[in-house]
Amino acid sequence: MAAVFLVTLFEYSPLFYIAVVSLCFIVTAAMVLGWFGFDVPVILRSSDDGESITPAPEKRMVQVTNPFALEVGSGSACVTGGVTLKPVCLEPCSLSCFWGCEIWALQGALQTHQSHQRFSSSLLLEALKQRCLFSHSFHVGCVDRQEQHTVIPAHLGITDFGPLPRDRYPLVAVLTLAEDEAENMYDIKASVTVVHVPDDKYNLSARILFQYLLTSVGSVYELKPLFMSADGTAEPGPPEQQHSDQRDEPNEEDSWSEGRGRDCVVCQNAAVSRVLLPCRHACVCGSCLPRFQHCPICRAFVLESFVLGTASDR
Ligand SMILES: [Zn+2]
Ligand SMILES: [Zn+2]
Repeated sequence: MAAVFLVTLFEYSPLFYIAVVSLCFIVTAAMVLGWFGFDVPVILRSSDDGESITPAPEKRMVQVTNPFALEVGSGSACVTGGVTLKPVCLEPCSLSCFWGCEIWALQGALQTHQSHQRFSSSLLLEALKQRCLFSHSFHVGCVDRQEQHTVIPAHLGITDFGPLPRDRYPLVAVLTLAEDEAENMYDIKASVTVVHVPDDKYNLSARILFQYLLTSVGSVYELKPLFMSADGTAEPGPPEQQHSDQRDEPNEEDSWSEGRGRDCVVCQNAAVSRVLLPCRHACVCGSCLPRFQHCPICRAFVLESFVLGTASDR
């Protein structure tokens, strides 16, 4: 009965109609403005207000000198034609190339290194040599910066490493110090680089898949490039002073010399001096860093950060 009365009133009284619409408007406005004490208007607040943001903790880094660097050289690369490698070393080194090295053999060798807690180049090289299809080595001087061409001899008849998924890496390149007297100067004793080389079955272009650094005390560090804000990705740079922490997988600092003086993407006023983790974007300065919980480039949540550059830059 009451409902029928209300419907009649709604249909015939314009005043009632206007009153209902106004009431709805006022209630909605009150909710949005928070008059009832509800916490509705979250979307009206700026997400980077500042006062509630706790800055990401700074990762403690140690400075180590890495005597090894290896890049894939220019020119075409394929399994039958070989690949050019460009080692850049601070000391005379030997470059050992293992073609078609079994994946578990490399992982096993790295685990053996970790469990023995000391580095033995003969143990590592012998373990890889036994489980690969072809291996040979070069001497690399510290000044000549020569490119080395490695290829599987044609008489072995190896043209590919089988269909995917594979149990062999196309090429594993190991750099070790050639002279015993240089051994004591560096904490890093070897660099292991896994290189993809295209063949008929899988023709992804040649590239470095992983790069590990082995220390004298049985640690294995994975070397990863940083992403600089100005020129896209940073290639692994020359073996200058590098930073790493003491955990098992540090993020190494590369190409910093080229990045010096680049503008912070936020304030465009100061040089980029912080690297965000885990996304590895080097894009902000020290004063802008505490204002962000998310990376300004990729929006990834910032868990940690570290200072870019050498100790003297801090
Ligand atoms: Zn800034
Ligand atoms: Zn990022």
